[in-house]
Amino acid sequence: MTTPPPSSPSRLILATRNAGKVTELRAILSAAGLPHELVGADAYPEIPDVKETGVTFAENALLKAHALAQATGLPAVADDSGLCVDVLNGAPGIFSARWAGAHGDDAANLALLLAQLGDIEAPHRGAHFFCAAALALPDGTERVVEGRLLGTLRHTPSGTGGFGYDPILEPLGESRTCAELTPSEKNAISHRGQAFRALIPAVRELLG
Ligand code: IMP
Repeated sequence: MTTPPPSSPSRLILATRNAGKVTELRAILSAAGLPHELVGADAYPEIPDVKETGVTFAENALLKAHALAQATGLPAVADDSGLCVDVLNGAPGIFSARWAGAHGDDAANLALLLAQLGDIEAPHRGAHFFCAAALALPDGTERVVEGRLLGTLRHTPSGTGGFGYDPILEPLGESRTCAELTPSEKNAISHRGQAFRALIPAVRELLG
């Protein structure tokens, strides 16, 4: 077992093993002039991942943030996101990562969704990426915020960047899909970027 790194009063932990998310939130904290040192859940490998048993993005983000804050004694941030399709009443929603069955099979999820929407014409192909971001303190204090990236769904995938449903979501006002944007272009408009930026006032309020 790896020894956990020493904690410092200004350390903040993000409930993810995705290095890209840690880099993204770290850049947002630093752009806001916040001194907190952000680490990912990989810094505490002995702490198990939390089951996402909530039925909303906010519930899942709060579950993950509280569990990590309790386990580490540190303020913890967690996010939960997915794709919400208008004509499917918001589905896949919290089931985005496992829409085709197996968790995290991006290609199968995308193929199934495209097949389900095969007959749906352009004016009815509205969708958005949604993200809830939560901050929890070890004493149970919590804040939760959200972000959205509105767009329309293509009939065929385009682009090789990003992940998940990026190749089919064309943001409003764009002629490219999310998978054709550079990482910094996507971070500037993404649901997660918006939610993380919306969390800054809560970080200031609760952590100083
Ligand atoms: P997570 O909560 O960030 O792990 O996202 C859950 C699932 O939602 C992912 O597995 C993707 O299928 C989908 N998703 C969330 N954010 C994005 C995004 O920015 N682009 C494409 N798919 C996304």
